[in-house]
Amino acid sequence: MVTAERIRAAVAAVPDPEIRVVTIAELGILREVSVDGDGSTAVTITPTYVGCPAMDTIRADIRAAARRAGAPDVRVDTVWSPAWTTRWIGEEARAKLAAAGIAPPGDLPESSGDLPEPVGAAPAGTRLLPLAVTGTPPAPACPRCGGRAERLARFGSTACKSLWRCESCGEPFDHFKEH
Ligand SMILES: [Zn+2]
Repeated sequence: MVTAERIRAAVAAVPDPEIRVVTIAELGILREVSVDGDGSTAVTITPTYVGCPAMDTIRADIRAAARRAGAPDVRVDTVWSPAWTTRWIGEEARAKLAAAGIAPPGDLPESSGDLPEPVGAAPAGTRLLPLAVTGTPPAPACPRCGGRAERLARFGSTACKSLWRCESCGEPFDHFKEH
């Protein structure tokens, strides 16, 4: 018996292939699941960033999960706008990341998106003012002991994470980078 509910639940439960403790729904990658009367399924996802190597796996996992739940055919569409942001990662997923030893993304400074774009070339002799500095998110705390951490590398086990080491307990950990 194919039900839309069952297919939706199966798709939502697909784990992120790189961070298997969280689902694509919890990460905010899953945007929409629509199921027709016969179970034909259309899924919409927003990748975390352009060129994320996990996306092909996620598409294949979505198709497999929906078929196992009884969908006769599955289409996976990708939408890029609005762009995915770590703000879409829910509270529950942040807690799961921390429990897995991955420092969750911090709060992003408010977007500076409404700053006017410079138009054309400035006249000669004009002193250009620097654009407002929006600041960087604070350094993540150690997910094990909450201690201060230093960054070891811009990239951790995957491109969306950076590598840090706790100055208190000495443990290295991944940090899900804000964007
Ligand atoms: Zn620590």
